[in-house]
Order: sequence, then C-alpha cells, then structure tokens
Amino acid sequence: MNKKSIKDIDVKNKKIFVRVDLNVPLDDEGNITDETRIIASLPTIDYLIKNNAKIILASHLGRPKGKFVEKLKMDPVAIALGKHLDKEIKKMDYVISDKVKNEVKDLRSGDILLLENLRFDPREKSNDDNFSRELAKLADIYVNDAFGTSHRKHASMVGICKYIPSVMGLLLEKELRSLSSLLKKPKHPFVTILGGSKISDKIGVVRNLLNVVDTVIAGGGMCYTFLKSIGFEIGNSLLEEDMLEYCKQVLDEFKDKGKKFMLPEDVVVAKEFKHDSILKTVNIEEIPEDWLGLDIGPRTIDKYKEEIMRAKTILWNGPMGVFEWESFEKGTKEIAYAIIESKAKTVVGGGDTIAAVKKYSVADKISYITTGGGASLKFLEGVKLPAVEALNNK
Ligand code: AMP
Repeated sequence: MNKKSIKDIDVKNKKIFVRVDLNVPLDDEGNITDETRIIASLPTIDYLIKNNAKIILASHLGRPKGKFVEKLKMDPVAIALGKHLDKEIKKMDYVISDKVKNEVKDLRSGDILLLENLRFDPREKSNDDNFSRELAKLADIYVNDAFGTSHRKHASMVGICKYIPSVMGLLLEKELRSLSSLLKKPKHPFVTILGGSKISDKIGVVRNLLNVVDTVIAGGGMCYTFLKSIGFEIGNSLLEEDMLEYCKQVLDEFKDKGKKFMLPEDVVVAKEFKHDSILKTVNIEEIPEDWLGLDIGPRTIDKYKEEIMRAKTILWNGPMGVFEWESFEKGTKEIAYAIIESKAKTVVGGGDTIAAVKKYSVADKISYITTGGGASLKFLEGVKLPAVEALNNK
C-alpha cells in the first residue's frame, strides 16, 4: 500500500485528530443496539494511548441532515467507548467552539476527547473548505480510521487532509489489505454470494469481479430482476425495471467468459409481504401471478451449498431472503452454516449480512467481516475511495 500509516509517524505528545466510524445503530430510546463499530475502532485508539498521543476523536452518528438533533448526540457513544477503554472520555457539546479549542490546548498525553456529531454541521457533508481548515487547526496530524465512510467526500474525510499530515489508522489499513488480497490472487474456486434487495448497489461489484470470480450465486430480492431479464414470470417479486437490460448483459458476459452465474431453481413464495403470510415452495417457472418470492427454495439451497463446499474463497454480501422473518430465513441460515463448514477463506460485508451471521452465531468463524458496507462495495467495484486518495503517500 502506498499510503502512510499511523505506524510510519511519530505520534508522541502530538495532537492526533482521529476520524472514526462510531455510527452505531440506536433504538427508539437512544440505546446502542450493536457496538461492533465501537469495538472496531479500539486498536487505533489503544495504539495512540500506548504511544502517548493526545487524542481527538470525531465521528458522525445517524442522519441529522446538518442540524442539531438531541437524540443523535454522541453522549451514549462516549459512555460505551469509555467502558471499553476503561478510561474517561471528555465528550464535547460542539464540534468547533472556544471550549473545544481550550480543552484541546489542555490535553495531556493519553487523554481522549470526543467531539460532537460532525453531521450536526451542514459543512461536514458539503466538504466545506473553512470547516475543513477549522478541524485541521485542532491537531498536528490527521488519522483516517473510518473505512465505512471513506467513499464519502466530506470535510472530516477529505477536506481536512489538505491542511495537516494525513495517514491511515489501523482499521482502515486492515480493511484495505483484506479487501485488496481478495482481488489479487485469490484462491480458486472463488464464489461470490450476492443477495439483498437492491441490484443497483451490487451490480458494479459483479462486473468488476467478472475477471476474478469463478461463480456467482444469486438470491434475495435482487435475483428476480435477473430472472425476469431472461424471460421468467416473477409475479409481484421485487423488480428493478431499469436494470433489466443491464442484468441480461451481465448474464451474457458471464456466459461468454465461461463463468457460472447461478440463479434459483425454486423459491418460497408468499401471497403478501407479511411475516405470517400464506406461503409455498414453487419451481422458478411457476411463480403465481400475484405472489412474491421471499426466499430461495430447498433444491436451490442444495445446489448453492455444493458450490460453497468446493470454494476456496468466498465473498458474501446480501441475505438470500427476508431472513428477519422466520418463515423466510432458511436460505440465509443454510448458506451461513455452509460457509463455515467449507474450508474457504470467507469475507462477509454489508449491514444485513453481518446481522445474519450474528443471528446464526457464525460470525467468529468467518475469516474477515468488513465494517464498511457501501465503502467495501465501492472498493470491490474498483472505485478509488476519495478519503483514501486524500491521504499522504509513503
Ligand atoms: P440490501 O440492503 O440490499 O443488502 O438488502 C437487505 C434486505 O433485503 C433485507 O432486509 C432483506 O429482508 C431484504 N430481502 C431479501 N430478500 C428479499 C426478497 N426476496 N424480497 C424483498 N426483500 C428481500
């Protein structure tokens, strides 16, 4: 990797601005429901504490749309982070203010200060130059450890790099290394499992992976547009009409290259989009007109499992069905079990897929779980991430 890392610089007694991704999910009462992102940020913070740096942390939380939103203050995050580090976190009520500047001045080595939600300020998302400069003025060095936001051109991700030396944090470095190794010389057969609801999010990845993967296994809501593109009737199943032609092209490209793009042979269909709807399993050419497909069927599961058992590398993004509902979880659950039974190196990404591997208690048997859904897809699409590009070269 040609970008400088936190390990390439001297951080002792320096003020380090660390852009972390502490955008954790919250319930209606504002409680954190999953701390994965907080835990993922710990190695860099620990490293800085051990190396006597003065630490300024900043993140966004939720979608406040450039305005103050009481429920999206960083306070619960500060408490959770403090517990993990067993250390006091000084939580600020602003991103930039005289109080913040004074607190920063008084920081001692090993101290940690957490700024308020960056997205309370509209200038964060607009990558405003003055805001970027103000953020940069707080510190001597900038560290990007927010892999999950690195596809965004925001002030704390890109603009700030213009004004102070800027390097990768440990999480960002690990994410980039793991995903790059998937693209460079993966062991074959390389099987990509794609599901979830939106094709438009994933089609770029499919195209970019065309040269490295051997087989794509498709499920979830997205597979119905593929099925329709080659003439199947899909009833009321999810359809992205404007992707039909593109899907057909992708299938043709796979065929031309002699690679497999597998689609379901049978599916579980429901009369309504409801957890307790009437349901039945049908062959793919028999989807009734006003029913909709919500999971892959048993024959498809068996075929997909065979491919998974042969694989040496697996990338999984997107559930095979509406796994949140018991009646339609079988496909996703069986695929999760097959993955951990296989001998393959496995990489899992995307919020719902991570939720699925946790639900079926297989997360700790996966080789690598990438924290950045959108960012990892962009990276695997071959798109240069602007916030990584903005960092200093070695
Ligand atoms: P994505 O964010 O694109 O990965 O989509 C994840 C969501 O897709 C999950 O919430 C699933 O419930 C949903 N999903 C999976 N299969 C289907 C399906 N056949 N029809 C509608 N939604 C689905």
